Amino acid sequence: MGSTPFIEPDQVETPASEMLRVFNVQQQNQFNIGNTTAKQRIAKLEKLHTTLLKYRPQIKEALFNDYRKHPSEVDLTEIYPVTSEIKDAKRNLRSWMRGERVKTPLAMLGSSSRIKYEPKGVVLIISPWNFPINLTFGPLVSAIAAGNAVILKPSEITPHATATMKQIVKEVFEEDEVALFEGGVGTSTELLKLPFNHIFFTGAPSIGKIVMKAAAEHLTSVTLELGGKSPTIVDETADIDLAAKRIAWGKYVNNGQVCIAPDYLFVHKSKKTEFIASFKKHVENFYTQDPLQEASYNRMVNQHHFERVKGYVDDALEKGAKVEAGGKFNKNQNFIAPTLMTDVPRDSRLMTEEIFGPILPVYGFTDIEKVIDEINSREKPLALYIYSKKKGNIDHIIANTRAGGTCINHNAAHFFNTNLPFGGSNNSGIGKAHGREGFKSFSNPRGIFKQHMTNALDLLTPPYNDFKQKL
Ligand code: NAD
Repeated sequence: MGSTPFIEPDQVETPASEMLRVFNVQQQNQFNIGNTTAKQRIAKLEKLHTTLLKYRPQIKEALFNDYRKHPSEVDLTEIYPVTSEIKDAKRNLRSWMRGERVKTPLAMLGSSSRIKYEPKGVVLIISPWNFPINLTFGPLVSAIAAGNAVILKPSEITPHATATMKQIVKEVFEEDEVALFEGGVGTSTELLKLPFNHIFFTGAPSIGKIVMKAAAEHLTSVTLELGGKSPTIVDETADIDLAAKRIAWGKYVNNGQVCIAPDYLFVHKSKKTEFIASFKKHVENFYTQDPLQEASYNRMVNQHHFERVKGYVDDALEKGAKVEAGGKFNKNQNFIAPTLMTDVPRDSRLMTEEIFGPILPVYGFTDIEKVIDEINSREKPLALYIYSKKKGNIDHIIANTRAGGTCINHNAAHFFNTNLPFGGSNNSGIGKAHGREGFKSFSNPRGIFKQHMTNALDLLTPPYNDFKQKL
């Protein structure tokens, strides 16, 4: 792979005047894009698909330079989710665009009603750094499928990935269709002043609030894909070895910098020792005894996030937590070993903040009701995971908790099924992404009522005489 990782270039913001110019050009073009046929939109998506695959080596190099992401993880977590969104849209776009016929009440006999999904217009997509390609181009696929003009603002924290996406966008689209602006908070803040027809934001809940406030100024609709602490429960009936293997994968892929990573874990007390032993075995199988040397193990994205997570661990250790596995740090490489901790106090930062790094606190439990109370005492999570073989236990947990999404006997896997709505609830998000739900997020369901002949409403015009009042 190419140049030295971890060199963070100076922040460059895009001038506000340039963004306004492109926004205006897109506004003028929005009906041309909105009136494209399914065939034309599919052709655009196909061009995006082939260009994305053509740039695969550059994307891998960019993500290695940004945070030493392994090329195989780039395939699985960056390219595959986008290509499967494209394939899903290609397969279904005609039926999505056809809209729906709906029933009309009998009293309105002689009329018909349908829903047409019309494009919102000019939309803004702001994305984070943790899966830059996936979380920028994934929503872009839905926005194009729905017939919108799009402005993209990826994260400044992964500049190599952003620069590569800019090249791809320029190769596939005219600027009055899709444009990408590089930059950080300054660029975002200027963009948020413009009267977009929809904003699709992926990032932290605290920033989601800033985006929603700015959107309120223009009554712009929003989709907010946010984060939080996703709990995981392993009960006494679960296949412990398999649960340990899957949780180890879900926790340490992308170095734990995943919005739907298992954030903290409850294991039935009778299985806790067995679980910890299995977990250590699988972590070692994945990343060897020395993960610092193992290419499959990524890094924290930058010094700031390295220090942030290290700070959480130090805080928990001071308050009495124990390291069961891992716990090693290398500042020069932004390396944090895959770490499992026990006795983590509830008031430590590991348990009050979204961890977003390779640390997993694990608790033993005997009473599932206490686990449910603990989960419900917190903000609604983006995901909740249940490992169990007992349907009654699974149903009970689902019925008595709230979460954006759930996997049973796996974690993070629900992200990859484009037939499932993906997103949070309240603090973990508003609105949904992926597949048809993504298409709908970027569309206005326009209700269209058509009168074919006289209907009962015609009898109700003024003056309201006695006969009409009896109707
Ligand atoms: P972030 O919220 O800091 O940044 C996201 C984007 O917002 C970036 O493009 C950034 O430039 C911009 N931004 C940052 N501060 C801003 C401000 N004050 N005003 C306007 N724009 C601003 O998030 P991040 O650190 O890039 O990503 C991590 C967070 O994203 C975590 O909380 C994670 O859970 C969440 N996330 C959620 C999902 C999901 O699908 N729900 C996916 C990935 C990440």
